[in-house]
Amino acid sequence: MATPIGNLRDITLRALDILTAADLIICEDTRVTRKLLTRYGITTKSISYNDHNAQRVLPGLMRRLNDGESLALVSDAGTPLISDPGFKLVEAATAAEIPVFPIPGANAALAGLVASGLPTDSFFFAGFLPPKQGGRRGRLAELAGVPGSLVFYESPGRLAASLADMRDILGDRLAVVAREITKLHEEVMRGSLVYLADNYAKQGAPRGEIVIVVAPPGEQIASDEDVQIALSVALEKMSVRDASAAVSMQFGRPRREVYAMALEISREGSAS
Ligand code: SAM
Repeated sequence: MATPIGNLRDITLRALDILTAADLIICEDTRVTRKLLTRYGITTKSISYNDHNAQRVLPGLMRRLNDGESLALVSDAGTPLISDPGFKLVEAATAAEIPVFPIPGANAALAGLVASGLPTDSFFFAGFLPPKQGGRRGRLAELAGVPGSLVFYESPGRLAASLADMRDILGDRLAVVAREITKLHEEVMRGSLVYLADNYAKQGAPRGEIVIVVAPPGEQIASDEDVQIALSVALEKMSVRDASAAVSMQFGRPRREVYAMALEISREGSAS
């Protein structure tokens, strides 16, 4: 069952009913889930189930399920099994013909995708990329031809390196870094992979949790209108030269083309 990814109010009424009524709550880490349970006054017993103890704990859980008990599975945040523990348990329950009922709710990948403004009709969830550069580049090469948006989870410390590898292997596509979704410092940063890789290389690792969304191959990086809007904003505090340099980097459009647009906007501005 899904639990919040930041804002504790992002939990469904049905999830609260089931957490209250279950015989046992299977948590990734009981200390993390305890905060949620305390907030809603839920006193159901819980145990930890994760990659480290799965082999030891799984047989006992299967026995309880076979005895007809109702077990609720949660991870620390979001939807279990999605880059989180739970797959082996669901696989074993399914094989034993024990019904598994999903209780849908928060998920960082989908939240990042819908806030990205990038195509949602077809997308591929790629989870975390391999931590080492060789493996990461190899995986990106496999994903380069996927005909849809790509959605990744990434840690702050690896963000700049991953964006640089994406730029090199996927080409200069439009992308979004969605950070701290549903939390106090929520931020959606949009730009070409050239711009984003450069930006995070300069600014260093940001704080918090991150989803990266990359546009499908062959998508136009940005419409002329997008570029004109960004230029109008930039021209309020920058020269034509600096504004066109910043916006061409942001949208991955040739600098000469953006400079011509900036010149026109600034002429129109001074004529009116
Ligand atoms: N199962 C979870 C889900 O459904 O979203 C994901 C678990 S995975 C171990 C954790 C990763 O999800 C983080 O490292 C980050 O990449 C992403 N994530 C989780 N919460 C997030 C948030 N509030 N904002 C942005 N990314 C988030």
